[in-house]
Amino acid sequence: MPQKAMSTFGIENIVDYLGGGVFCCKNDDVLTIVYASASFYRMFEYSEGEITTLNGSVPNRLLSGDQPINWRRLAENIKKYGFIELELKLIRKSGHHIWTICCLRLLTAEDGSEYFCGVLEDITQRRRSLRREREQLEIIKKAERELAASEERYRIIMEQAADPICDYNFKTQELYCSPPFKEKFGIEVSAADGLLDKLYHSDVVFKEDKPRIMSDIYEYIKGGSPKTPEYRFRDVNGNYRWYRVRSTVLCDEQNDPIRMIAFITDVDRQKKENMSLKEKAEHDLLTGLYNRMTTNALIDKAIENSPPGSCHALFTIDIDNFKNVNDHLGHLVGDEVIVDIASKIKSRFREDDIIGRIGGDEFVVFLMDISHRDVKRKADVLQTIFRNAHPQDDTELKVSGSIGVAFYPEDGKNYLELFAKADAAMYAAKNSGKDAYRTYSGTALHKE
Ligand code: GH3
Ligand code: MG
Repeated sequence: MPQKAMSTFGIENIVDYLGGGVFCCKNDDVLTIVYASASFYRMFEYSEGEITTLNGSVPNRLLSGDQPINWRRLAENIKKYGFIELELKLIRKSGHHIWTICCLRLLTAEDGSEYFCGVLEDITQRRRSLRREREQLEIIKKAERELAASEERYRIIMEQAADPICDYNFKTQELYCSPPFKEKFGIEVSAADGLLDKLYHSDVVFKEDKPRIMSDIYEYIKGGSPKTPEYRFRDVNGNYRWYRVRSTVLCDEQNDPIRMIAFITDVDRQKKENMSLKEKAEHDLLTGLYNRMTTNALIDKAIENSPPGSCHALFTIDIDNFKNVNDHLGHLVGDEVIVDIASKIKSRFREDDIIGRIGGDEFVVFLMDISHRDVKRKADVLQTIFRNAHPQDDTELKVSGSIGVAFYPEDGKNYLELFAKADAAMYAAKNSGKDAYRTYSGTALHKE
């Protein structure tokens, strides 16, 4: 009988030491256990001898019902192949399941009865970690599939979009520009420094926009927040057009930028329409000088931005007896005189001097950082301009202007305060007989 041979003290110890459960059961309906190692009982949380069958009835039933086994066929297969290895789901005393690998052989006793001899190895933990690995692998595969799908969608967008798109990879420093980029601008680049070089050294970017685009790009690369700036680029036909650049920066989990994608849209028509509307809203239609509102706003802004200790001057000039020009020569000639005066003032003063037409025959000139002595010189220049504005067909009809001057900061802290003082000074000049200028000093007006 095998039980006798296996129950020797030495073998028991060795079997116990190996850890797996060793058993031998009769090939009958309930698989009556004839031998089981101590480790076998421990595996199922039973005391030695407490369990007598593998396939008996509850409570001490080891085989889980959800995996029915045809033991007769199994015995035939073992006879055929010598042994069989199968995964078995078994039940512990506590009712919990364990997964085991069971290596089975068949012994035939002298009386012809058959016995299954098996070694069980608990693989519950291994199966669990395998399952976890499989689940993780599935998650990774799913993410890869999603990424591939989104990459594919992205590739289609890149290739099908009519507007140029640039994609810069911060890690590899590669730059991809979609086909319309080359079609529109006639340049091809594959690295960011190549693009920067071309933008800087060629005339692809409009000269005045170059410093702005370069500083914007460096700011993005350093991780600055994207804006939607507009620049003028030269197209393949050599014409500069306005483009809006919308950028999106993709970051990793640490919030470090990985890629920056820029969409370039032609906004030339819209931009020029807006600029012309702005120009119309800010300027006087007849002379092209700033209108009253813009003059006011620009002067206040200039004052706000000027450093402490600055000294500025505001001139207001009103044409003397202008009604006479209109009355004698008509409104059109009157208009010509106004236009002529405006263009002469513009040509005699600097770009950053603020010159406005704030009423019918009334002008304003704001000069920044000017000394009192220079103010006198500038007043003379203005007087000469007005005196020389002869109506074309009538040299007899003299034109002149009366000028009032107020100083920042003594006479006022903003445009309205300065204008009130300069206007009072101008009326003082009118009252003194016109073709004159006055400065406003404190409350006293005095002739220079
Ligand atoms: P004063 O010496 O006191 O300044 O008298 P003035 O005749 O110049 O008259 P005032 O400054 O009081 O009025 C300006 C006149 O300028 C009134 C109007 O007939 C005329 N005027 C205003 N706007 C225009 C314009 O756009 N074109 C023309 N031709 N005349 C204008
Ligand atoms: Mg006038």
